[in-house]
Amino acid sequence: MPRKYATLEDRLIANSRINETESYGGTRCWDWVGTFGTGGRGEPYPQMSLRVNGKHTVKRAHRLALEVFRGVVFGPDDHADHLCRRRCCVNPMHLEKVPAAENLARRYRKSS
Ligand SMILES: [Zn+2]
Repeated sequence: MPRKYATLEDRLIANSRINETESYGGTRCWDWVGTFGTGGRGEPYPQMSLRVNGKHTVKRAHRLALEVFRGVVFGPDDHADHLCRRRCCVNPMHLEKVPAAENLARRYRKSS
């Protein structure tokens, strides 16, 4: 039996470790130590399986962090952008909801 956590917040915290060296905006990165999935571009991203209304579902952990800790509501075209540029980080203070197009534009600006 997998260990049960009371809330999603507990599970997110239980599956991440404070990074002692990486930080953004004055707070440390929370490195995800749970499972990783693969994105459309072959990039790994933190994922968490959970049940929603009795249905098994897999969610991106960094997105979930924004939802449960900051009450952010995602639309179908919204992405969670890592302000700290560390994909494994799930610190809700290092994440920002952005429209997909803006997220892509930022990526191109960064890589140029
Ligand atoms: Zn971070």
